[in-house]
Amino acid sequence: MRQLSKNDSDRLRALATQYGTPAYAYDAEIIRRQYQRLESAFSASNAKIRFAMKALSNPAVLSLLADLGSGVDAVSIGEVRLALHAGIPSSDISFTPSLPPIEVVQQAIDLGVHVTVDSLSLLEKFGRTFGSEVPCSLRINPHIKAGANKKVQTGHKKSKFGISVDFVERAADLVSNYGIKVVGLHVHTGSDVADAEIFVRSAEVLFAAAELFEDVEIFDLGGGFKVAYRFGENDADVELIGAKCAQIREQYIQRSGRRAEIWLEPGKYLVSASGCLLAEATTVKKSPAVTFVGVDTGLNHLIRPMFYDAYHEIENISNPSGVPQKYTVVGNICETDTFAKDRMLPEVREGDLLVFRSAGAYGFTMASQFNSHPRPPEILVDAEESRLIRRRETFEDLLTAYA
Ligand code: PLP
Repeated sequence: MRQLSKNDSDRLRALATQYGTPAYAYDAEIIRRQYQRLESAFSASNAKIRFAMKALSNPAVLSLLADLGSGVDAVSIGEVRLALHAGIPSSDISFTPSLPPIEVVQQAIDLGVHVTVDSLSLLEKFGRTFGSEVPCSLRINPHIKAGANKKVQTGHKKSKFGISVDFVERAADLVSNYGIKVVGLHVHTGSDVADAEIFVRSAEVLFAAAELFEDVEIFDLGGGFKVAYRFGENDADVELIGAKCAQIREQYIQRSGRRAEIWLEPGKYLVSASGCLLAEATTVKKSPAVTFVGVDTGLNHLIRPMFYDAYHEIENISNPSGVPQKYTVVGNICETDTFAKDRMLPEVREGDLLVFRSAGAYGFTMASQFNSHPRPPEILVDAEESRLIRRRETFEDLLTAYA
């Protein structure tokens, strides 16, 4: 990851003037580049990509990805309906909810999407309700700790996600009792995973489990490919991961004589780098120990630093050659919403435009109206064009749902 070029900074300053701050801006070209790199890294196994839309659910972004050939992974009925609204065919949508009641699964099936079952309790209800009529996938918890940040690990033994790999035989018994048609196995060990071996070990767990399920031909390896958040850092080596996964898929096909279609569910990898949050420095406040920069946004618009201890590079594009000084950058919410502690930035003056980088994933989608601040707009930049893909909310939007 690199600092913004002068061209990019000029462009972002123009966007801030046109659309105001705070605002999310996404670069379509970066989304296309990331998609194509991942697709080509997994070309040997002809993997199908289903974008984890929880990362960025704006319909304009979903249809941009659909034009490239992507499907969608949705986790709520709201996401399924948003994807359908964006024009994604139901056959390209998977539904991977966390611990849903059977009524929600029924709604998803009525909408025509492919369901992944994540507990034995749901599997039993699924069998009782649908028998062999509706194919499904099973999410397996492989008991693998992945990535450095505990807050985004989902495949370890104590995680709520998936059916424990220790219980796969119990799942197979339910499947045979009810005649359930399990066509896919799914795994997702978490976010920020750089180590190719994690993907290999997860895939091996699925290939081994497939022996118990005769209809399985889809192997969904999830998402979680690490992306760069700091200058000098790189994304996960998806070429290496893709090559290793292709190799073990081939071995599985050779030894089992069965089909194996690979699915991926990347979120961050496709959209993180494309996005930034533009904010104005509204206050520079010196206390005896700290110089604070207060901005016109807060944890209500970008919660990752507070929720995940995530690091986002911040650039002062109004004064890039200012003398570097140490600042603590904080939001305008009545909570301790610290974006960056003791960060060296070129001198920040009130009114300067700050850019929070790598904010395309889990930025806007996790935004709220906390403290009754409306949510910011989203802008899509494509080559020389920019367009508003979600307008800035207003006070009237805050009122819409009240009785
Ligand atoms: N698939 C599932 C089931 C997930 O829960 C997530 C993230 O929470 C993803 C895919 C996408 O993860 P990432 O954005 O790290 O690629």
